[in-house]
Amino acid sequence: MLVFVAEEIVRRETELNALDAAVGDGDHGITMRIGFEAIRDRLGQLDPATPIDGILRESGTAFLGATGGAIGVVMGKMLLAGGKALQGVQEIRAPEFRLLLTSMETSVAATGKVNPGDRTILDAIHGAAAAAAAGDSGAKNLDVVVHLSASAAQEAARSTADMLCRVGRASRLGNRVLGHPDPGATSFAIMLRAMHDWITSPITADTQS
Ligand SMILES: [Mg+2]
Repeated sequence: MLVFVAEEIVRRETELNALDAAVGDGDHGITMRIGFEAIRDRLGQLDPATPIDGILRESGTAFLGATGGAIGVVMGKMLLAGGKALQGVQEIRAPEFRLLLTSMETSVAATGKVNPGDRTILDAIHGAAAAAAAGDSGAKNLDVVVHLSASAAQEAARSTADMLCRVGRASRLGNRVLGHPDPGATSFAIMLRAMHDWITSPITADTQS
């Protein structure tokens, strides 16, 4: 699944750079592409029997090692936190996915020292985690929970276009950021949508049965 997500992020590099160019230095797509290429390459070298927590830890380490800047640290530590939360887990079902999102939200809030509404990647993660938790009573299937989370992340990413930036370099831009969605939040929404596409693809469903 993470290799599939990596390929999607690599494909969206130009679009992510353009979003960042509207509010920053235009390198967000480059950083994400470099980080996810490192993840894809690292996962390709792993023993196929590597457990889920090991895969997430290796991915976080690969992202941290390959990239610089704030988003590199935030993404890398977010994946490491996901690995820690899913230690010993053999299969990701709806409850494990909720746990993954919660651990990622906690990590990003702590690493970035940000809150929801600060116009960062956290807005998309927070929206996704809230949607997954809200489906707690009804949605038992992973594909439904990931779909709800991905849609919420996309909506949250869109809503960052109405927010002023309080942290990072873009905070100096004032109201010039209005109308442009946050690149990091957009990336996270793309990641979740790719996860959903992978889970629901006929090829994947075949290999899981
Ligand atoms: Mg940038």
